[in-house]
Amino acid sequence: MISADSVRARSAAVIGGGPAGLMAAEVLAQGGVRVDLFDAMPSVGRKFLMAGRGGLNLTHSEPSEPFLSRYGARRAQIEPLLEAFGPEALRSWVHELGVDTFVGTSGRVFPTEMKAAPLLRAWLRRLREGGVNFHMRHRWCGWDESGALRFATPRGEQSVHADTVVLALGGGSWARLGSTGAWVTLLAQHGIPIAALRPSNCGFDVGWSEHFRKRFAGHPVKSVIAAFTDSSGMVYRQQGEFIVTATGVEGGLIYALSARLRDKIAATGSAVIHLDLAPGKELQRLIEELSRPRGSRSMANHLRSRLGIEGVKAGLIRELVPAPDFADPARLGAAIKALSLRLISARPLDEAISSAGGVAFEALDERLMIRSAPGVFCAGEMLDWEAPTGGYLLTACFASGRSAGLGALAWLAGGIDQSVA
Ligand SMILES: Cc1cc2nc3c(=O)[nH]c(=O)nc-3n(C[C@H](O)[C@H](O)[C@H](O)COP(=O)(O)OP(=O)(O)OC[C@H]3O[C@@H](n4cnc5c(N)ncnc54)[C@H](O)[C@@H]3O)c2cc1C
Repeated sequence: MISADSVRARSAAVIGGGPAGLMAAEVLAQGGVRVDLFDAMPSVGRKFLMAGRGGLNLTHSEPSEPFLSRYGARRAQIEPLLEAFGPEALRSWVHELGVDTFVGTSGRVFPTEMKAAPLLRAWLRRLREGGVNFHMRHRWCGWDESGALRFATPRGEQSVHADTVVLALGGGSWARLGSTGAWVTLLAQHGIPIAALRPSNCGFDVGWSEHFRKRFAGHPVKSVIAAFTDSSGMVYRQQGEFIVTATGVEGGLIYALSARLRDKIAATGSAVIHLDLAPGKELQRLIEELSRPRGSRSMANHLRSRLGIEGVKAGLIRELVPAPDFADPARLGAAIKALSLRLISARPLDEAISSAGGVAFEALDERLMIRSAPGVFCAGEMLDWEAPTGGYLLTACFASGRSAGLGALAWLAGGIDQSVA
């Protein structure tokens, strides 16, 4: 049990005002600590607000087993964080802020207003009332020789001493919203192991023909099944939608497979997905329909009238199926059920929804304190985990922010073995 009196006179610096840092600040302030929150940007929560443009998918309502499986290889590290503050606890916390939530048809959880701004406003008000001091335009630049935190500010460089520090600096995507990933160098200089930041929930390049790009960039491809076989022979199949971009593909269906596709491209130079453009129709039926005489009708008209395939789906077929196969209903039908799409590179990290890689869990104790930097905790997307879209990202950011805040409180109260210091 941590006594508030034992930590009251102590100070905590939280660096990074995204969901993870704000949650750490809340826990610390509630524990009676003086909290100073620093952020490089003129205001906090910019990526969180951007997530609000898509409705702010806060978490997911599915049972805990599939939920935890979304964290893949890092499930073991994320599970204890979610046991302490999981999807249900997160929803209750949101409700306490006066924001209602609802479960969408896909099981995803959103604020009723489908916006981040009301939630962030209410939260910041509560944090200010709770005593959190905000210092905007303070870019953390590492530590000086005395161990003080160095900040670049509009008034020049400033040094700050704090009894404990929570770093919640985000990943490396959408740098214009604040998370530049520049912290990687700062921590690596201190020998802290960091897995290289890589795009996660990202688009991919295909290299469309000029004709296809001009005609179809921006078009959504609705309700298809994408199948991908990884190097071990494991097959992943997912139904959904994606968008044709000027260089390739992006969107929910692609993001869901993106970690595996990215790793396959890194290992072998490319990754092939197979698209079923007519999920509701059996191959045999397609072949029968395609075998009907088309008379003087064009192939495009034949596909439209016989199979209802037109627009961007017809364009994909034209782009990707070898010309001779159009004359063979069996080959054309097979291509429609399993259209080969070769992805040649992941889009750059800056464009990705989130980052894979980050501070290695091996460098941290179970409270997310850097073992080699006692009193310094890490939280949020800057840790080495990834998850698909669906609310899993924010859920783990909130949970790890809370854990780091509690860890920092325990550190201040002497509840963590300080002999490592
Ligand atoms: C377009 C988009 C939509 C998204 N939609 C969803 C969604 O619906 N659901 C979901 O679960 N996830 C979503 N995400 C992902 C989610 O927003 C992030 O995973 C989450 O914001 C990460 O939280 P964080 O606190 O770890 O870092 P961030 O939110 O990135 O915050 C990091 C903060 O640290 C500050 N900072 C960085 N470096 C320094 C420094 N050197 N000094 C001082 N401050 C610094 C930054 O300015 C920033 O304010 C979306 C992401 C994007 C880009």
